[in-house]
Parts: sequence; structure tokens; C-alpha cells
Amino acid sequence: MNDFANLSPDELNKIDKSRVWHAFTQMSEYQPFIIERADGVYLYDVDGKQYIDAVSSVWCNVHGHCHPYLNEAIYAQLQKVAHVTSLGMSNPTTIEFANQLVNITPDGLNHVFFSGDGASAVEVALKMAFQYWHQRENPRPLKTKYIALELAYHGDTLGSVSVGGVKRFHEMFEPLLFDCIRIDLPDTYRLPEGIAADECCNHYLEQVEAVLKSDHEEIAALVVEPIVQGAAGLVMQPAGYLAGLRKLTRQYDVLLICDEVAVGFGRTGTMFACEQEDVQPDLLCLAKGITAGYLAMSATLATTQIWNAFLAPSHQAKTFFHGHTYAGNPVAAAAGIASLDLFKTEATLDNVNRRAKQLTERLETLSKHEIVGDIRQRGLIAGIELVADRESKQPFDAQLSVGPKICKQLLRYGVWIRPLRDVLVIMPPLCISEEQLNEVVDAIDNAIGEFCQNCAP
Ligand SMILES: *Cc1c(COP(=O)(O)O)cnc(C)c1O
Repeated sequence: MNDFANLSPDELNKIDKSRVWHAFTQMSEYQPFIIERADGVYLYDVDGKQYIDAVSSVWCNVHGHCHPYLNEAIYAQLQKVAHVTSLGMSNPTTIEFANQLVNITPDGLNHVFFSGDGASAVEVALKMAFQYWHQRENPRPLKTKYIALELAYHGDTLGSVSVGGVKRFHEMFEPLLFDCIRIDLPDTYRLPEGIAADECCNHYLEQVEAVLKSDHEEIAALVVEPIVQGAAGLVMQPAGYLAGLRKLTRQYDVLLICDEVAVGFGRTGTMFACEQEDVQPDLLCLAKGITAGYLAMSATLATTQIWNAFLAPSHQAKTFFHGHTYAGNPVAAAAGIASLDLFKTEATLDNVNRRAKQLTERLETLSKHEIVGDIRQRGLIAGIELVADRESKQPFDAQLSVGPKICKQLLRYGVWIRPLRDVLVIMPPLCISEEQLNEVVDAIDNAIGEFCQNCAP
């Protein structure tokens, strides 16, 4: 029947390395790492070795792998229908999920546009914002530009790359991108010169205000990853920053797009990061955790004010002409609904807050290592930044691959982490237990210790 079932791990490695082009991976250096199955927080490779999935399969798994309740919900939907298009049609499961998303997200977001991945959710928000200003009641067609943050990451399609700010990823494509007004990274580790920690929020917001003051007539929207900028290296914003952005964008009549693709669905300790500063965005982008990390789906939620600008007889062409074939897929929606059930029945947010507290206490011990420059955390998102010099916060030479080397060592301890350069990422499934989380921190402690020992002069 299936020849592949009999392949040895070595043979699989060979085919993987030559046939599969992996995301964000230099294929000339790729070392196959093949997971055959998973259960809870554990991954099992083709040799049967067990690893704790300490980054939730890149920030999307919520309740653990192979959860019986999630699996069951997916099977049950499959017995009904696997897919119904969103183009002029619907399905009860997708409707129910849209309704639930409206109920759990910040007030005012009453309409849900489904897509298949985070980049598309952002792409949709950018296009909706643009079109909104053209066709709302008092049109402002000059408002066509976007403000985005330094080191922002919003996905890899050309629109989301245009607002992205990670040079290493995005520079190559510059000729293909639209212009974007860039504001400073609201970093709380590397502060601007002469600015104290307690002044930095005002400092960053003053810059935003200056931009808005001079250019607001031409600005459609400001897009931000709330509270934590993920791919930037888990850069954590000062308290009050997001609320400040909301206040300023209202004042200057600019839409606020919050990209909660990474931070949404409980990871920061509240269901959505916006809640922590009582912020209601005009457009909200959700993906990664939306199906608990089981199936591809994303959503862009919009206010009724935006929605209304698209309502007109069809000959006026005010329709949102955008769509993805698998948008609103009912099997994915069934996983999404089941995930929200589990947030209640397993009291997921309570566990996040207990584990977050434990993590804060445990991570403190890592500062004994000379190369640990910063330990930062919001909920169950933690970054451990490794530096060459703690005093000056000087990073390591990128060629040394310090982060990747330590993570490779971590595999030997049965912990899988994909770092962001020299920032070790801890973003486990939200169901992780006390013992499992201790195991993760112990492994990191040991791996950093060994690295320091091997490199000591
Ligand atoms: C991962 C991510 C995206 C992109 O989502 P994909 O599903 O990979 O397209 C967008 N924004 C943020 C903040 C992300 O972390």
C-alpha cells in the first residue's frame, strides 16, 4: 500500500532534505527533525524520542496536541461536511464560531471576515482600512498610508511585508512593497539614549503623536502587535503604550489595527492582549491559536462603522472584493469552537496565570549566567536574551549562532525551542503542567551553563 510507512528514519531524512522546501530555513544547512506524533505538550520524533514542545509548534498550540475533545469535534464536523465556501454561502458551524468570536473579543468588533492564515488576516485588515476611507459617508480618499513599528512582523505576503519591519526578512522585496511610515520600536530593554524606563512610554508616544500631527490627513491606519512584538525578539512594550496608541489614533482619526495573531487566545494571561489596556481596535487580526493550533484559519474582525461603509447596491462596487477559497472552513471552525469550550472546562486562563507566576520565579535563577542579558515575560510568553556583554547589552556576533546552538543542546534534554536569533523563546501550550514547565526551565539552565563552560577562556 504505502511504501513510506516502511521507510527508515534515515531514508525519510534524505527525502525531506531534498524534496520539502522548509519555511524560514536555509536548506543547505537543514538538519531534518521529523515528528511522527504528539500528545499533550510532548512531540515524538521518528526515532520515538520525546520532546516538550516549548514553543507550541511555533506559537499556535493551546490545549496540547491530540486532545481527545478537539479531535472528536473535528471528526464530528467531517461527518457533516468538510468544506463550504464563504463566497455567498455559509454553514452553521462557521456561523456559530463567528458569533462566539464577536462575543469574546473587545467591544465594537461585530463582524468577522475569515481567511486561512495570519498574513491574510493582516492583508484583509489593510485593504479594508484603505477601502473604508474611500467609500464611507464622508470619504477621505487621501488617507492611503500606514504607520507600522520598527521590527514589526505581520506575515509574509507582500502587503503584510510592506508593514513589516524586519530588515533581514523584508529588505530583498523592497521594490515590490508600498511605503510605510515607520515608528520607533517601543523597547523596554534597550531604551533610547538618555531616557529612563519610566519615561520611555511617553517618549515613544510623543514620536507617534508628532507623525500623526503632521501626516494624519494621509494616514489610513496604524498597525501594531499589542503588548508583545513577537518575531522582533519578543520585544515587550511599556505599560500604557497600547492605550496611548488608541487615544492618539482616535484623536487624529486614524484606524487602529491590532495584530493579535501571536498574542491572542490567552497567551499573555488574558484572552486577548488588548484587554490588558482596555483597548478596542477598529480591526483585529486573529490566527495561530484560533483553532488551538490544529487547522489553518484566521479572522479579521471589524467594527460596524467599517462594515457600514461597504454596504450598497452591488452595482456601486462597494463590495469587499477579496476572498480565500478555504476561508471559514467548517472543520477549522469546529476546532475553534471546541477550543473555546476547553478554555472554560479546563479553566485554561487560570492555568496560564499560575504557570506565568511560576515561570517568573523560576526564570530569575537564570540571571546567574553571565550571557543572560534580559529576561522578559508577559503571561506564558517569555524571552531570554543572550548577549556578549551584559553591561552594554552588546549582542553576540550573529555568525556565532549562540541561540541556535543552545537550542540544539536543549534537544538532548528533551526540550524543543525555536529561538529568535539569540532570544530563547518560552511559549508552551497553555495546558503545560507545573512539572513540565520546571523541566523546560531546568533544561535551559543546564544548556546555558554548558555553553558558558565550553566557551570560557
Ligand atoms: C505568525 C504571525 C503572523 C503571520 O501568520 P501566518 O499564519 O504565519 O501567516 C502575523 N502576525 C504576527 C504577529 C505573527 O506572529
